[in-house]
Amino acid sequence: AAPEPAGLLKNLNPEQYAAVTAPPEPVLILAGAGSGKTRVLTTRIAWLLQTGQASPGGIMAVTFTNKASKEMLTRLSTMLPVNVRGMWIGTFHGLCNRFLRAHWKLAGLPQGFQILDASDSVSAIKRVIKAMKLDEERYVPKQVSWFIASAKEDAQRPQDIEAYDEQSKTLVAIYQAYEDQCQREGVVDFAELMLRSYELMRDNAAVREHYQRRFQHVLVDEFQDTNKLQYAWLKMFSPPALRRGVFAVGDDDQSIYAFRGARVGNMADFEREYRVGGVIKLEQNYRSFGNILDSANELISRNSKRLGKNLRTEAGPGEPLRVYEAASDFAEAQWLIEEAQALHRQGLRRQEIAVLYRSNAQSRVIESALFNAGIPYRVYGGLRFFERAEVKHALAYLRLLENPNDDTSFLRVVNFPTRGIGARAIELLQDAARLSGRSLYQSVGAVAGKAGSNLLAFTSLIDSTRNLTQGLTLREIIEQILESSGLAEFYRNDKDGAERLENLGELVNAAEAFVTREGFGKDAVALPVDELSPGAISAGLPAAVAPAQETLGRPESPDSPLGGRTTQSVGLGGRRVTPDAETGEIMSPLAAFLTHASLEAGDNQAQAGQDAVQLMTVHSAKGLEFDAVFITGLEEGLFPHENSLTDPEGVEEERRLMYVAITRARQRLYLCFSQTRMLHGQTRYNVKSRFFDELPEAALKWLTPRNQGFGSGFAKEYQDSWSRGSGLKSVVGAGRSAEKPSYEAAPVPRSMKAAAAEKVAAEFGGLKVGKGVFHTKFGEGVLMTLEGTGQDARAQVNFGRHGMKWLALAVAKLTPID
Ligand code: ATP
Ligand code: MG
Repeated sequence: AAPEPAGLLKNLNPEQYAAVTAPPEPVLILAGAGSGKTRVLTTRIAWLLQTGQASPGGIMAVTFTNKASKEMLTRLSTMLPVNVRGMWIGTFHGLCNRFLRAHWKLAGLPQGFQILDASDSVSAIKRVIKAMKLDEERYVPKQVSWFIASAKEDAQRPQDIEAYDEQSKTLVAIYQAYEDQCQREGVVDFAELMLRSYELMRDNAAVREHYQRRFQHVLVDEFQDTNKLQYAWLKMFSPPALRRGVFAVGDDDQSIYAFRGARVGNMADFEREYRVGGVIKLEQNYRSFGNILDSANELISRNSKRLGKNLRTEAGPGEPLRVYEAASDFAEAQWLIEEAQALHRQGLRRQEIAVLYRSNAQSRVIESALFNAGIPYRVYGGLRFFERAEVKHALAYLRLLENPNDDTSFLRVVNFPTRGIGARAIELLQDAARLSGRSLYQSVGAVAGKAGSNLLAFTSLIDSTRNLTQGLTLREIIEQILESSGLAEFYRNDKDGAERLENLGELVNAAEAFVTREGFGKDAVALPVDELSPGAISAGLPAAVAPAQETLGRPESPDSPLGGRTTQSVGLGGRRVTPDAETGEIMSPLAAFLTHASLEAGDNQAQAGQDAVQLMTVHSAKGLEFDAVFITGLEEGLFPHENSLTDPEGVEEERRLMYVAITRARQRLYLCFSQTRMLHGQTRYNVKSRFFDELPEAALKWLTPRNQGFGSGFAKEYQDSWSRGSGLKSVVGAGRSAEKPSYEAAPVPRSMKAAAAEKVAAEFGGLKVGKGVFHTKFGEGVLMTLEGTGQDARAQVNFGRHGMKWLALAVAKLTPID
């Protein structure tokens, strides 16, 4: 048996100990939030390394988000003095990218292939639909992109899909055309990263055997959220038959990606297919105080399909959960900022405070309040730095330097800033490219006249900048392209361009930080590829970045050349001289930076390293923990989300999401909701979330009086005004009512509430949130939400047997019932 490393194992409970030191066979851990799953997984990696059972190169560990994988690397480096960069630790997409960078040729990709993010991919699909002269109303690009992504997640290429009707046949044809287009442009979308890697493993025995021999240990965190393809991908790297060390940890109650194809059933399949001896359960929670844990447990107990686990804590009950009801989303943000500031004054670091929301759109109000209050914050997910228009423009120019055949980038900037290339010229160009099967860049010669010469001017701008930037550092390249493209000038002349210019400056900073962090060295420069010989590469590179040759079939030395040494300046030069520190794949700083930009959320807003409040969706909070957590927008239709309300499965997934949210908190948890909220340009009037009724009352402390809210107090106010009659007139005449106290008779301050109530009341003759309504087709139901005005007025009604429905009031006949 291996010697026991001092310290590493001493703080583990017996079940955790058993898991960490389990023999190198398939292991499945099923355990609730905060029970130490991730800690066990990380400790196992450290233990395997320390006892010499594995080398850094023999380990692959998969996590779900970039933030989680960074966290794992940090935790690991505190346990062991190991060069974590040499290990394959990352997200599925990150690892697939790494894999494809090493085997681009075998995977049929160009060396500098670029990654399309979600919105790039939708616009690429849009172009395909247009080129095929199809109706965008019928083939909505976003929906087509879902279709393609889910086909890819089922490992289905267009030819694998059996289509019978016209609509599906066309969808498959779009898929095929989109694939051809991506191939031509040398770009891949996120789903393609996965599928391409899977196919290469499946179809190429040499590659497969190499990796199966290499990775003696494969560890997967958050296994409950793997989809079909990810599981198949894992099986390629460590097939059940080999009975290698496959270590999967998960929690069925935290499965929150069913909408994206996650299969909680993978856990049962894993247990069966890998013939797992005994599933390990961890039942002690080390993260949260009792009230938080009790609330989480009670909430999740309402779900029906559960694998069954218990969670207990030895910490005391701690503080109650604080509940706050705000009058508006604005007030909610204002309140939570004051509260966060108070916590910070009491000594809590800002990064220990998380503000969670169900939908990305909610972040804007909170962000602007934080910004106005001058509080540093960081947003994870959502509109990231790298997704901002001006940044994407700059990146498009940079991508064209790397790969002029990238049509997506070409189209983005060919006429931005404007250079006299109109829609007509672009159409001609696209037709020519389609006919010849070449890229737009290669086809500019086909367009005649003024537009043609403008197009030529554009491509020679790209070409000359490419020449001009040979030998320059990444920073200089970016500065150069910002000027020569006219982008910087454009924003300097734009009266609202200041912030955009700042973002472009920030891009230069991001590049600088990237180069330093990734060890390219500040003076890593670009030279033409053909000036390099393989000898020059290995001779000129410091050992730390010298390629760990991914040569197939050659067993790797257990002592990776990457171990321990720090990276330093490369200084050799060469556009493609700097290899990926691990795979040895040679990539320029620019190419590496562009990949980074596609894969990662930029560290925006707060400066790197600055203590900042953390903003994120509940989805991106998975696996993380904070001393204080705010769960905002706890309103029916928002959380649980309205799209989920039509089926019980949907509600159960929302409940798991709420379980994830609650269990992020260590000490203090705030739950807040708002009576009104501006979303998508509409004021919504809200009922507080059903989740409040599913939490133990004893664990809650109401900061505002309980049972307020649109559904109760506020609603009552305007319901009363309505029970005096119906229709606009009676509200106008409310003061004259004899039976019931009117606003004048029993003065209620003319608050926002009253104004809002009158507005709603005026719109929706006689309808009352929280009251019964009758619909000729769906029968009786309960009115949940009223929103919008005029033609846009809508009501959300829970019809019980028929489920939750949104109805356009201009069309639907809804009669109030008592
Ligand atoms: P989640 O389901 O949310 O991902 P998890 O099961 O992965 O949670 P961890 O994040 O690994 O849980 O652990 C939760 C917290 O408990 C961490 O701060 C971790 O360091 C701590 N912890 C885990 N095990 C122990 C232990 N035996 N002694 C002390 N602290 C522990
Ligand atoms: Mg975890």
